[in-house]
Amino acid sequence: MTAIPTRRLNDNTELPQIGFGTYPLRGNEGAHAVQTAISAGYRLIDTAVNYDNEAAVGEGIRRSGIHRNEVFIASKLPGRFHDYDDAVDSARETLWRLRVDYIDLYLIHWPNPGINKYTDAWQALVQLQKDGLARSIGVSNFTEQHLRVIIGDSGVVPAVNQVELHPYFPQEELRTVHAELGIQTESWSPLGKRNAPYGEPVIEAAARAHGVAPAQIILRWHVQLGTIPIPKSANPQRQGQNIDIFSFELTDVEVAAITALGKADGRLFDGDPDRHEEL
Ligand code: NAP
Repeated sequence: MTAIPTRRLNDNTELPQIGFGTYPLRGNEGAHAVQTAISAGYRLIDTAVNYDNEAAVGEGIRRSGIHRNEVFIASKLPGRFHDYDDAVDSARETLWRLRVDYIDLYLIHWPNPGINKYTDAWQALVQLQKDGLARSIGVSNFTEQHLRVIIGDSGVVPAVNQVELHPYFPQEELRTVHAELGIQTESWSPLGKRNAPYGEPVIEAAARAHGVAPAQIILRWHVQLGTIPIPKSANPQRQGQNIDIFSFELTDVEVAAITALGKADGRLFDGDPDRHEEL
């Protein structure tokens, strides 16, 4: 099994260059999927309060037999708990459900600008980190404007922004902002989920050239962009395929051709963080 390279965050911790997405894996099957993912080599596991599977994720990690400090667990605060005290309580509930005493990465799931309390939520995450309950803190689905608001308010730059990112929506502008601010990009729906571009000629050609599957080409593209993809698969064979992306390299031309698949309306659903409210 190849060791997964890591990326250093702005708080000097490190994250593996690929993680495992867990939505909508739940219950015993969810725990089993997490266990097989860890056996396949994944060390970063992405969950959220709203996936209703934190307990299953914790169970899968324990079943794997891996030591707590060899796995990075990420979870997310839902929009209904953006009040400062609610955010702290929700984080403590997350730790309880996972049966751990700290979380490696804790994110605000969506900014929910309609509620407009994400600065309060961010202050709570800053305190959770100071108290040692969260090693790293970050956000998800934040635009440049949301990022600048919380940084201006708190003086603390998120370590990570987890956003929709796949070949049809490569987030070129936001990635530039992240690079300028020192924020690590994480890619959700990295394969493009139901709209995965496996049949695109540039992806098929790269898959033939490197002797790998189209999904591996897409995940390798993320790694070469410097983003951290978190593909989900319930299938052990595809879990193994998705993480087997560190023994080949795309050319700059291939990377550029995949990025060029991007479309202005390439989002999977109407998940524009300025309008999408998720509680
Ligand atoms: P995804 O990882 O792009 O795609 C998952 C789909 O692709 C599943 O249907 C899976 O089916 C299939 N698949 C996986 N590997 C494959 C392969 N090698 N070949 C062919 N098909 C393959 O999409 P996602 O699950 O939406 O996103 C990943 C994770 O991102 C989620 O699980 C979640 O943790 C996170 N996420 C975060 C947010 C947010 O707002 N922060 C939003 C959405 C998602 P099988 O299971 O059958 O393999």
